[in-house]
Amino acid sequence: MKCDVLVIGAGAAGLMCSIVAARRGRSVIVLEHGKPGRKVLASGGGRSNFTNLNVSADNYLSENPDFPKSALAGFTPAGIVQFLESRGVLFDEKEDGQLFLKGRSRELLDLLLGECKDNGAGIITGMEVKGIRKKAGRFIVDTDKGQFDAESLVVATGGLSCPELGATNLGYRIASQFGLRVTPLRPALVPFTFGPEELKRFSGLSGLSLKAGISCGKKSFRGDILFTHRGLSGPAVLQASLYWTGGGLAIDLLPDVDIKGMFINDSARSTMMHNYLSGYMPRRFALRWCELFLCSKPLRLYPARELERAAESLHNWIFRPSATEGYKAAEVTAGGVDTRELSSRTMECRKAPGLFFAGEVVDVTGQLGGYNLHWAWASGSAAGKYA
Ligand SMILES: Cc1cc2nc3c(=O)[nH]c(=O)nc-3n(C[C@H](O)[C@H](O)[C@H](O)COP(=O)(O)OP(=O)(O)OC[C@H]3O[C@@H](n4cnc5c(N)ncnc54)[C@H](O)[C@@H]3O)c2cc1C
Repeated sequence: MKCDVLVIGAGAAGLMCSIVAARRGRSVIVLEHGKPGRKVLASGGGRSNFTNLNVSADNYLSENPDFPKSALAGFTPAGIVQFLESRGVLFDEKEDGQLFLKGRSRELLDLLLGECKDNGAGIITGMEVKGIRKKAGRFIVDTDKGQFDAESLVVATGGLSCPELGATNLGYRIASQFGLRVTPLRPALVPFTFGPEELKRFSGLSGLSLKAGISCGKKSFRGDILFTHRGLSGPAVLQASLYWTGGGLAIDLLPDVDIKGMFINDSARSTMMHNYLSGYMPRRFALRWCELFLCSKPLRLYPARELERAAESLHNWIFRPSATEGYKAAEVTAGGVDTRELSSRTMECRKAPGLFFAGEVVDVTGQLGGYNLHWAWASGSAAGKYA
């Protein structure tokens, strides 16, 4: 089959790219090995946090931090908002500019699929790519459903997270085949696991969450941290995981309280330490923390230096993750096709004209909060304008 644009991957980036290219009058075929848009369906707990009003290049991690700017400028949150509003899809703003659908993610996926159909972009599902080559300036893609011949090839195969939702390494293999570097890959927006010592200390707290501050290098986040039966999760922890490549994380268990000052003011009190801390954090956590580190006794019995150390331990708990929960639990893959190989305006490869990469397969990874789907729309749209 011949077409102008062949897109591999019917996820957020591939579908957006197909819509934009088809609207330009290009003949478009999308190849998908499973069902289209499974991560769109799973996103935002089924309500898709599809963008963020505060989107900027600062919300993304890349070896080339300026790279996302051009695509983000070409497709702002207003672009996707307008797309949804014009078709009557309702959404809500949650905290920090996060936009979530009011209904189910299915609505968003149906909209994308409908738009592909209305503009003549065909989607072939349940197929397997066997091989790709370039011949006389065109891309020849062999599959178990026949051969495809296209002027432009857009690789939008996503990252490695959640293999059960269709993730494969095909995009990275295509990049390598065409001589492009792939930066180191790792699971991100992912829970951490405890080592044996911490497991003994904290596994009894499974299900407990508390508000905390968490710092990884120069990046700091605030939000809930959740104790699981294997480690730590919750929004603030997932954010920190994007920047974690080993070593310790500093956790402030009382980010809104100057506990040292309060200890000094209240040091004459006879309140037991765990009861005192229970005023500021979940009682179950206060009890366990005291059992482990503070041998609870009335506040007045702590020497000043001990109170100082107690405050320090609460404001600056150095947590050393043993590992992460890996790709099966990660929302995204950090790293990807080296952006220095791509045009930031068009997403086309410098080394292989006509070959484009879009979405998560590229070395641009967003923070939690709608930034990854936004990158998929923005980079997909950029590729769709030029493919
Ligand atoms: C559980 C979960 C929840 C998430 N929630 C959010 C959220 O609320 N907000 C947000 O911004 N981000 C969220 N993300 C991240 C976001 O979904 C992804 O970053 C985004 O979908 C990436 O889009 P993409 O098109 O690049 O890749 P994908 O959406 O992964 O699409 C890639 C497509 O390529 C197909 N494919 C892969 N290999 C092959 C192959 N060999 N042959 C043919 N086809 C292939 C896949 O089946 C898939 O359809 C979430 C991720 C997960 C896992």
